[in-house]
Amino acid sequence: MTAQTLLLIIIALTALSAIFGQVLAALNIAKPRQDIDPRLAGLYDAERYAKSLTYQADKTRFGLAMALFATALNVSLFATGAFGRWADFLSARLDSPILQALAFFGSLYLATDLLSLPFQLYGTFRLEARYGFNRTTLTTFIGDKLKGWLLTAILGGGAVSGLIALVGWLGSGFWLVCAGLALLVMLLVNMFYTSLIVPLFNKLRPLPAGELKSAIEAYASGQNFSLAGIFVIDASKRSSKSNAYFSGLGPKKKIVLYDTLIEKHSIPELVAVLAHEIGHYRHGHILRAFIGTGIQVTLTLWLFSLFVGNRLLSAALGAEHYALHLNVLAFGLLFSPISTLTGLLSVITSRRHEFQADAFAARTTSPEAMGSALKRLSVDNLSYLYPHPAFVFFNYSHPPVLQRLDRLGIIAP
Ligand SMILES: [Zn+2]
Repeated sequence: MTAQTLLLIIIALTALSAIFGQVLAALNIAKPRQDIDPRLAGLYDAERYAKSLTYQADKTRFGLAMALFATALNVSLFATGAFGRWADFLSARLDSPILQALAFFGSLYLATDLLSLPFQLYGTFRLEARYGFNRTTLTTFIGDKLKGWLLTAILGGGAVSGLIALVGWLGSGFWLVCAGLALLVMLLVNMFYTSLIVPLFNKLRPLPAGELKSAIEAYASGQNFSLAGIFVIDASKRSSKSNAYFSGLGPKKKIVLYDTLIEKHSIPELVAVLAHEIGHYRHGHILRAFIGTGIQVTLTLWLFSLFVGNRLLSAALGAEHYALHLNVLAFGLLFSPISTLTGLLSVITSRRHEFQADAFAARTTSPEAMGSALKRLSVDNLSYLYPHPAFVFFNYSHPPVLQRLDRLGIIAP
């Protein structure tokens, strides 16, 4: 194979995956149904339902514009060999391969972030604001950006330096050690996420004593589930959308509830949401997701080890000289059909897990409480009621709300 052929494959894959994604998205909004499912009729009035349809259409069109811009830019950069020439330029000026890689990925990251800045601003301050979701101020936005850059510099910079150092030291045998280290970092991030990373962006405070706290504690102890703490996060400083999640491993599990969730839900609904999250633990979903990611990371690194020294990959991106970081980029692009497949596998599994967690919550609280929480979440977040099955199949990590209500046995009144 020549570098030219490889370049054509990279361009074709980039274009095809963008076209496929956008065709699915267009299909999803092509024939919006105007009727409101009777189970949601009490919560959705005609006006708010119409708003959910235009929200979906606006989001899709915005996504299309972004994808068009990114694909056109990437394809022209690939075709002109810009990535390769930029890497050659850096190699000629920096001695250490680690510095070359850091400068390469760092500049790419910054350029991508700055080029997409107009889209980010429009998305937050126009699109989300138009539907009453946005609560981010410009100060929060800028602060988030700076903190995001810092975090990426530490975590991303550490990962890049580690990879380059390991390849230099172990050659193509780097992958096993690298996978072990990656898993360790994933474990640490998971363990310290709520205590180290979340406080950079949000305030967490313990849920004050009261009816809700007593109800949650009573439920958890009834399930023999040990909670290290119940926290409220000030998610309302960015968006009015609501959610809840668990964090931590082993006996140190913390439940984090969005303040926006507490605002809008009744106590039985909030307990049902918590029960759903506990259901994920009881069914071993968290552990299985972790093992799944571990296998995926290890296989990817092993596959990359087969191409790590291949000069053709650097040449395909337009470089005169081989560079490990160019091979990483080219590999990521060539690998995209496989990562699409593993992504598909993971959303299919995730949807199955959501049904199981819903069923757990229905068994241990009541189907009505779980159903009513799902309905309210869906209406508050203006979720799309009738997504296209093909779009759901490839993209949805959570089943559409009407399917979840079906499974809970919630029927129309
Ligand atoms: Zn879930």
